[in-house]
Amino acid sequence: MKTLNPYIVRNEDFTDRIDVVCPRCEKKALVIGAGLYVPMAEHEEKVRFSCVSCGYAIKYENTPKTPVYVNSRGLTKYSRLLYPNAPIDPFFGFALWYCIEVNEGTLWAYNLEHLSVIEAYLKDSLRERNGLPYQNNSIASRLPKWVSAAKNREYLLRLIAWVKLR
Ligand SMILES: [Zn+2]
Repeated sequence: MKTLNPYIVRNEDFTDRIDVVCPRCEKKALVIGAGLYVPMAEHEEKVRFSCVSCGYAIKYENTPKTPVYVNSRGLTKYSRLLYPNAPIDPFFGFALWYCIEVNEGTLWAYNLEHLSVIEAYLKDSLRERNGLPYQNNSIASRLPKWVSAAKNREYLLRLIAWVKLR
């Protein structure tokens, strides 16, 4: 598995396959996702949830739409909402499988590759960016301060190692 650079890649680069907790049986299940900021028609075509343990499956195109605004003619417009940058999958809102809750907050990843990028960032104690500028919205720029705090690093790395084996 290639380790991607946490100063460049963003959370939304990992939304093609998202490991979630099945809302029916609580086992590990999969959301086949897509890029977040593509037209909704593409989400409706591609995005689906399935659980190999209990057989529960949902297509994104069959999820209910939410009223988002009323236009100037008084008509309510409906859309499907996205939930980016949160410990839930951005399409269905199911809990992420790779989720570590500690007193300070929640550390989460969409999949193992995403978690490995965060792990690599924590292991890189010198925070060598090799002259790379922080990319806007990169994982390194988005992680909360308590995650990168030196006093929490060893502890979080142990929890990451544990959650990878779950
Ligand atoms: Zn299930």
